[in-house]
Amino acid sequence: MSGRQGGGWREKLNENGMSRTVQAKVVIIGSGAAGCTAAIYAARAMLEPIMIRGIQPGGQLTITTDVENYPGFADVIQGPWLMEQMEKQAAQVGAKLVSDHVNKVELERRPFRISCDSGDIYMAESLVIATGAQARWLDLPSEQAFRGHGVSACATCDGFFYRGKNVIVVGGGNTAVEEALFLTNFANKVTVIHRRDAFRAERILQERLFRHPKIEVIWNSVLMDVKGSENPRKVVGAAIRNVKTDAVTEISADGIFIAIGHSPASELFAGQVQLKPNGYIKTAPYSTATSVPGVFAAGDVTDDVYRQAVTAAGMGCMAALEAERFLAAHKVESIAAE
Ligand code: NAP
Repeated sequence: MSGRQGGGWREKLNENGMSRTVQAKVVIIGSGAAGCTAAIYAARAMLEPIMIRGIQPGGQLTITTDVENYPGFADVIQGPWLMEQMEKQAAQVGAKLVSDHVNKVELERRPFRISCDSGDIYMAESLVIATGAQARWLDLPSEQAFRGHGVSACATCDGFFYRGKNVIVVGGGNTAVEEALFLTNFANKVTVIHRRDAFRAERILQERLFRHPKIEVIWNSVLMDVKGSENPRKVVGAAIRNVKTDAVTEISADGIFIAIGHSPASELFAGQVQLKPNGYIKTAPYSTATSVPGVFAAGDVTDDVYRQAVTAAGMGCMAALEAERFLAAHKVESIAAE
């Protein structure tokens, strides 16, 4: 049984009568700024792209609050709102948005085979990988033991629980400084622990942080151990080591937010497309082309330099344009007509 016959995709039920196999000209994995922009451009090229939204639809911007550097908005906008707009725009221009999670890709030959948790399979003539990045952890045993019980990597998700309490933020980049500032909306005191004596966050954010009366910074220090209690399982403090003097001190805290950067979500593609030594997907210079012809990568899964919403969106645009050229060169005009 066949479903919709479009110029860009068609589907049929699998033998189990439950899941479907969908043939498409362009499949986009991921729905952050890169994925949505790729979907908008591919849809406007009449390619009827399918965007598989993943576990965290909208990507990292959905777990931030104020966005002040996305061009076009003089007033402060909210990350979740921006992503809602991007998805809405993608759908309005003809992209098909699918709420599913990809668990396997097979890229040895075209069409590429993409398997999802629902059992649905996508056979794609071209693929845009826009799976983004996920928060990194310190990998301390005590950090893992108290994850979800006072240790978090997302202030916007969990900050609310720390009304009137003391919290620690570990890190010195934009994420750490933004999370520290956000947490002042709830917490009594926010202590930032950074391993060096200078932040790498944008100057404007640093200045806001230094001026904030609720925030204290402990420089040249690392989190050595999370201190917690059982029954109820909760964080009570942290052991901090000064990297210059090796002195260890304990401070009390109700919550600890780890904000030490992100790793690319590239595991699904390891061994199939070339990765850089740091795990980011390797692309050709000034291009989103990966080592597999017809497979393109955009946004934080490939970008270890800029990692901004606007650069991710730019790369999504490039990936869609490159996919369009690839399909034209390979004379993939209409799936339904085959
Ligand atoms: P980041 O810029 O890579 O910063 C990570 C921070 O964590 C650094 O200060 C680093 O210290 C520290 N760190 C890393 N590993 C550590 C470890 N094992 N122990 C202790 N500290 C450690 O990551 P991010 O802040 O998540 O930002 C990622 C990207 O997203 C950046 O390009 C950032 O500009 C962008 N971003 C932008 C915005 C915005 O524009 N508003 C908001 C959020 C994120 P060192 O400084 O010593 O290396």
